Amino acid sequence: MKCPFCGFEDTKVIDSRPSEGKKRRRRECTNCGKRFTTYEVVEKPMLMVYKKDGSFEPFDRAKLIKGLQTAIKKRPVSVEQMTALVDNIENTYANKMQTETTTSEIGDMVLHGLKKLDLVAYVRFASVYKDFSDVESFIQIISELDTEK
Ligand SMILES: [Zn+2]
Repeated sequence: MKCPFCGFEDTKVIDSRPSEGKKRRRRECTNCGKRFTTYEVVEKPMLMVYKKDGSFEPFDRAKLIKGLQTAIKKRPVSVEQMTALVDNIENTYANKMQTETTTSEIGDMVLHGLKKLDLVAYVRFASVYKDFSDVESFIQIISELDTEK
């Protein structure tokens, strides 16, 4: 498990207890010494993610977290909130025993969660996920923000 603060690979578990079908683990980074909590689903089905071009790959939690880290950089969103958002998405599928989804469905779930946390992070993630070469969707996102404020 990578440290969400410094990215160091080696973190040690300092406490572990079950919590609603998940394992709650308190971890400490052996590099920077920061502590964080992870919730790991004990047994979850493999989730396959279909991309727009028809290809698919297993859901990559680390990749999603990396994208989110960029979006929340220097924003008032904590690592715990970000991790909870990803956990939430994973658990939504695990609870339904759903094994297939699409990148756009996951992207929409992330955006939905980010919108409640921080609008700047939301727009940043949208800009990557929706791809700003698509100017129309960017304008649409900005106008959606306007109407909700
Ligand atoms: Zn660290």
